[in-house]
Amino acid sequence: MNQQSADNQDAKLTGFGVQDLLIDLVNALSAVKQLSEIDYQVDDEKALIRQALASLIQYQDMERCSFFIVDSDGFLSNVAGISILELANSEASVTTPLRFKVGEGLIGAAAASGVLQHCQNCHEDRRFEKSGKPDQLPGSVISVPVFTFNRTLIGVLNVSHPQANYFSEWHIRLLEVYKNILGQLITTRRLVQQMEQQIAFRTAELESLVAETNQLKDHFASMSMHDQLTGLHNRRFFYDQVEVVIAHHKRYKNSFCLLVMDIDHFKVINDRFGHLFGDQVLTGVANALKRQVRNTDILVRFGGEEFVAIFTNTRCDNGRTFAERIRQEIKTLEWFVDNEVVNLTLSIGLYCLNGDLLQSEQMPDIDQMINYADAALYQAKAGGRDQTVVFGEFRSDRN
Ligand code: GH3
Ligand code: MG
Ligand code: MG
Repeated sequence: MNQQSADNQDAKLTGFGVQDLLIDLVNALSAVKQLSEIDYQVDDEKALIRQALASLIQYQDMERCSFFIVDSDGFLSNVAGISILELANSEASVTTPLRFKVGEGLIGAAAASGVLQHCQNCHEDRRFEKSGKPDQLPGSVISVPVFTFNRTLIGVLNVSHPQANYFSEWHIRLLEVYKNILGQLITTRRLVQQMEQQIAFRTAELESLVAETNQLKDHFASMSMHDQLTGLHNRRFFYDQVEVVIAHHKRYKNSFCLLVMDIDHFKVINDRFGHLFGDQVLTGVANALKRQVRNTDILVRFGGEEFVAIFTNTRCDNGRTFAERIRQEIKTLEWFVDNEVVNLTLSIGLYCLNGDLLQSEQMPDIDQMINYADAALYQAKAGGRDQTVVFGEFRSDRN
């Protein structure tokens, strides 16, 4: 309201005053409109408050507006302030740090009582006695508490003017409306921020849960494909991979060899030196086999003391050579137990699938191939163990 005190209100209602009243009304509505249009999603709460103060001072003839936020210790600190001069000169508002305890001074009284405090003449008001700087005191001040939706105190909006008895009922009513909208803006912003933080927190929680689940899944997938004792792949892995090998070989018509390897008289080792020692032996044999097999081949512990391998892209003569190399290598292994040196031997049954056979309708399935290799192994055992027998040769021998 332009320069008129409360005493001039009535004069406005007649003649020339009506026009002034309309201007004041439009200004008040403009300030409220601008406040309601502030984007509550600004990064910083202080920035939002600063915009709110600017919209107030722009349309209202107050000299200075400031906002004091209450903290959990019951203190009110000014976080934003702007004067009409700063607004006119587009200067950044300078806020000298001020701090009041709730209950202290006019601002503290507004916070403590929860109701608007109006000081018409600061020089005569004992709430300003302690300020110590009478020359810097404003003439009149209004302090309005601002609340959240659920009536939690956010802080105090403070407006001042150099003239005493300056503010009218008009200003008081406007500020009551203004502080409600400001309270809603700040509350909405805080709620949105809290929600975003919660969403970010929950998302991070979910992401780490998904990562953990995937790790567990990988772990169990790996466990279900590996033999725990030797670390070799297991029978399940064999059947999983062999399909790929067969499909590949069908397409490119190349040969491969299937080996079934069984430790000779392993039961004796268990019986003489115990099951734990037997486990060590199995692990040693597995490691030796690993060293003999290429990465592109398949090697699994098929069960007990029996291992199965597939040499990919390998013709029978080479397959036999590789099998013999394995057999010889196993013979060189040594274990020391109870002052004894333990050695062992391996029997191998070999089934070869040559490329030309692949075109035939008669191509055996994987279980048949294993049976053939097993039959060759049986023959190797029957023939005195520690030897490699190729299925075709054994069959032709028998035939
Ligand atoms: P052959 O020369 O005829 O193959 O005789 P073998 O004694 O090796 O064969 P047999 O099938 O009679 O015995 C295999 C033994 O392997 C019996 C079983 O207790 C043992 N075995 C199987 N799995 C494990 C294992 O994980 N650890 C240990 N220590 N022994 C095992
Ligand atoms: Mg055996
Ligand atoms: Mg066996």
